[in-house]
Amino acid sequence: MHNERLLVLGTHNKKKGLELAELLAPHGFVLRTLADLSHAIEVDETGTTFAENAALKATVQARHLGCWVLGEDSGLAVDALGGGPGVYSARFAGPDATDETNNAKLLQQLADVPLDQRTAHYVCHAVLSDPHGTARAESEDYCRGRILFEPSGSGGFGYDPLFEIPEYHRTFGELGSTVKTVLSHRSRAMRAIIPRIIAFAHLPEWTLESRVNDPNSQSR
Ligand code: IMP
Repeated sequence: MHNERLLVLGTHNKKKGLELAELLAPHGFVLRTLADLSHAIEVDETGTTFAENAALKATVQARHLGCWVLGEDSGLAVDALGGGPGVYSARFAGPDATDETNNAKLLQQLADVPLDQRTAHYVCHAVLSDPHGTARAESEDYCRGRILFEPSGSGGFGYDPLFEIPEYHRTFGELGSTVKTVLSHRSRAMRAIIPRIIAFAHLPEWTLESRVNDPNSQSR
C-alpha cells in the first residue's frame, strides 16, 4: 500500500546509508539518502546530545525538502574518556578527520589504559520528522563492547576495526554485516522506530516518488 512513499535517510555517510537502507528495505518505502537529492541542505550539528543532533538532522531537512526524513545521530562513548568522543565521534581527530586518523587518536588517548578499563558503547538516536518539520517518533539504543589495542578487520566503518564485541572475541571490522545487523546500536534503534514509521504510512502527506522531479535522483 505504501510502496511509492518516499522516505529520505538524513545522512551523507554512504556506509551508514547502506546500513539504514538494508534495515528499511523490506518495509516497502522508496529510500533516498541526501547524496541522491541535489537540493538537500547541510544541517549543522549544533546540539550537545545525540538526541538534539538527530532531531536537527531530521526536522530541518524535512522542512526544507518537504518530505518525511529519518534523521540519525550516532557515535562512540568510551568510559575511560568520560563518554568521549561522543557527539564529536566523526570529527574526533579534527575538521579533516578520516576513520584512520580518528582511530589513531583513540588508540593514542587510550595508550595507558588496560584492557579491563577499555569499555565503550556505541549510541544511535533516530528521529522521524514529518514534511512540516515536526518530530513524530524517536528511538535510542546502544551496543556495548571494548576498544582493542590495534585495528582488526576491514568490515563496517568508523571505529569498527577497534570495537570488539567481547562475547564474540571479534571486532565489528571482523564480524561482517550479518552480525552487525543483528547487534548494532543502529539496528536496535531502527527496529524500535520502524513499526512507528509504518504506522504513519496511511497519512496523506507522504511525498510520492513519482512526484519528485529531481534529475539527480536515482532508483535504489
Ligand atoms: P554522525 O554522522 O555525525 O552521526 O557521526 C557518526 C560517527 O560516529 C561516525 O563518523 C563514526 O566515527 C562513529 N560511528 C557511528 N556509528 C558507527 C558504527 O556503526 N561503526 C563505527 N563508527 C560509528
